[in-house]
Amino acid sequence: MMETVRCFDRDIPLLGCWEAVVVGGGSAGASAGIACAQAGLSTLIVEKSLCLGGASVNALVSPMMRSFTGHHSNFHALEARLRAQGCQTRDDVLGEMVWFTPEDMSEALETLYIQAGGQMLYEAVLVDCAMEGGQIRALILAVPEGLRAVAGKCFVDASGDAVLARLAGAETAHGDENGNDQITSFRFEMGGINVERYRDYVMGLGDAYSQFPRGYFYESAMVGGRDFVLEPLFQKGVRDGALRPEDLRYYQTFSLPGRPGCLSFNCPHLVNLTDNTQAMKRSAAIVEGRAMIRRLARFLKGYMPGFENAYLLREASMLGVRESYRLVGKYVLTEEDYTGQARFPDGVARGDWYIDVHSATKGLYHKKAYEKGDYYEIPYRSMVCAGVGNLAVAGRCISTTFLMQASVRIIPTCMDMGQAAGAACAAALRDGIALNAVDGVRLREGLDYQ
Ligand SMILES: Cc1cc2nc3c(=O)[nH]c(=O)nc-3n(C[C@H](O)[C@H](O)[C@H](O)COP(=O)(O)OP(=O)(O)OC[C@H]3O[C@@H](n4cnc5c(N)ncnc54)[C@H](O)[C@@H]3O)c2cc1C
Repeated sequence: MMETVRCFDRDIPLLGCWEAVVVGGGSAGASAGIACAQAGLSTLIVEKSLCLGGASVNALVSPMMRSFTGHHSNFHALEARLRAQGCQTRDDVLGEMVWFTPEDMSEALETLYIQAGGQMLYEAVLVDCAMEGGQIRALILAVPEGLRAVAGKCFVDASGDAVLARLAGAETAHGDENGNDQITSFRFEMGGINVERYRDYVMGLGDAYSQFPRGYFYESAMVGGRDFVLEPLFQKGVRDGALRPEDLRYYQTFSLPGRPGCLSFNCPHLVNLTDNTQAMKRSAAIVEGRAMIRRLARFLKGYMPGFENAYLLREASMLGVRESYRLVGKYVLTEEDYTGQARFPDGVARGDWYIDVHSATKGLYHKKAYEKGDYYEIPYRSMVCAGVGNLAVAGRCISTTFLMQASVRIIPTCMDMGQAAGAACAAALRDGIALNAVDGVRLREGLDYQ
């Protein structure tokens, strides 16, 4: 059987040329696009799905994790927009968490981006890039009409998986010391739940984990082997054959604003997908994950008080990948930077979420959370590399160690990194220099925290 197929040796029609081209419209990419467009750059976001938001929309990830540190303006604009759309965001009861529905998030990001003057290219999958002298000249995309090219001056890789960085020949890494990635989840939502009854039941068991024991919002969880009050019921499910032991690895639910009776499930863990960089293994895990979702939904309906009339509302349309490829950039941010609350002259974003590893092989690994107000900085050098001049990387695939990635990856931090990347594109074009030559110290001075 042949091992390779030669196919790209042909002329690809050009769709256009933009000053800034952003690959991936997740939290980081949308924010990068907004910043580029607001700076007056002709900007294109290339996104393979039908909406902005990435994991926060298509993988059904919500809410935004708590963050007590200052953030850049895009984060605050998004929060204001979500609030205007009726989402309940940070307040005295909810703390520094932003609660949203996937639809509210995608609408808010798209509105902010289009209002800033950016252009969208949805349904476009980056498959290759054309390089010249260490610079990216054009992206090759699979779009509805076939293969098309998009030319640009500055490129931001916000694909989550460092797709453009890898295609451009930048060094990347993934996984822990054994090549195991953080565990991937396949999230889902259920409706028809009597959340009050469910909460009363869980609280009645003396649960110490549940968040928000009163009011509309509720967060609950069960992690097998960790003495959670819900575990005996889940174990009964296993004994009865309704569940399998792997279904108990991780279970977590969150309310959704404006959707009474609905819960978003941050599970199941795809326990067999220890290396999520391989297409065939991912697809096999999706098949397993779908069966896990069905088992969990049936179990909840049959066993859990409050779920008597519940139904499966939807499954995520994108895998919940916590970590995959990461850039190896000019600086690799480490867990020592977390513990030392590192400051950098070119610190362009701040992080304050703890190191929150869902390890494929070692269960949950957490580093002590910060006190409110503590933070570390993310240097611009973690977003660029020496080898590709006109590329910046933003979001969960910047240059960090495996452990440190588990802190930088939360949505507010991804948004701030995206805004910094957008500001860097504007600086590079203003000064006629490469993105990886932008002065991070000056860049930092132009980025406000509120
Ligand atoms: C299961 C799970 C639970 C989480 N829980 C929370 C939480 O509660 N709170 C929180 O704040 N964070 C949470 N996170 C982390 C957070 O959701 C993500 O790390 C963050 O959303 C990543 O944003 P991003 O912009 O870097 O990447 P993504 O959101 O993944 O965006 C990347 C975008 O690039 C697009 N793309 C990828 N490849 C291509 C290509 N070849 N061509 C075109 N487009 C492409 C994708 O479609 C996607 O839209 C969780 C993550 C997971 C997986």
